[in-house]
Amino acid sequence: MDKIRIENLEVFANHGVFPEETKLGQKFLVSITLHVDTRNAGKTDDLSKSVNYGEVSHFATDFLRTHTYHLIETAAEQLAEAILYTYLPVREVTIAIKKPWAPIGLPLESVAVEITRKWHKVYLAVGSNMGDMETYIRRGIDAMSSLKDCRVKRVSELIVTKPYGVTEQENFLNGCLEIETLLLPLELLALLHEIEAAADRKRELRWGPRTLDLDIIFYDDEVIGLPELMVPHVDMANRSFVLKPLAEIAPYMIHPIYRKTVAQMLSELKEREKGNEKDHIV
Ligand code: AMP
Repeated sequence: MDKIRIENLEVFANHGVFPEETKLGQKFLVSITLHVDTRNAGKTDDLSKSVNYGEVSHFATDFLRTHTYHLIETAAEQLAEAILYTYLPVREVTIAIKKPWAPIGLPLESVAVEITRKWHKVYLAVGSNMGDMETYIRRGIDAMSSLKDCRVKRVSELIVTKPYGVTEQENFLNGCLEIETLLLPLELLALLHEIEAAADRKRELRWGPRTLDLDIIFYDDEVIGLPELMVPHVDMANRSFVLKPLAEIAPYMIHPIYRKTVAQMLSELKEREKGNEKDHIV
């Protein structure tokens, strides 16, 4: 993606671990890289189609002057989030904060922290098969959209499906949603667990009845293999209750390992299921 770079903006502010740093203040040099699509602005010569770097420089200066943190890590983290919340065309931001006068009792040119933060595109599967299923699902989605660092972009139709795995239980209501989030994969997983717990979810039986189930299907096009988190969701290719609603909102999304679109995975699953039905008849 295109970039707009602000380099070594001088800000006099009061961040630091030592009392004299917070009291007297010192100079910081702030570099900000905004990842923005500038094609439209470039073609039309219209500033409103880009991000005004003057405005962002003033925003960053005010932000760093009006907040005080012990760590430049925190100053960078908070500033990155504030920019991503405020300037919608900015999909990703890199912030470097340099301290040329770091009080460490040794001569050094500067010390700096540099971080990159971005809006991640994530697909989630949602399901319920206990109580007022639709209310549990809608409340879960509302809980997510009430958070600053999550934006719910699209929600599929909710469909009634037969139980999977443990089949002696009530039908499910299932759907999928597209969100944008600043949360990292394990932070997002922890949030989903909190939202499930708030819906009186008890983790008893695997594949058993549940008030609310939230799974991460895709996280950008990342591949994650951790004991507690497998992304893309490890069983998605076999689950029509995931692929059907997902095909409604993201038919062309490509699975980063199988290199197949969601629509293709769904039609292949349907073929396999037809094959299985024949096996049963014979
Ligand atoms: P369940 O909610 O019963 O489907 O199981 C959820 C457990 O599976 C969680 O505790 C996660 O640690 C683990 N898990 C592994 N991969 C994923 C994923 N992609 N999305 C959600 N949970 C996952």
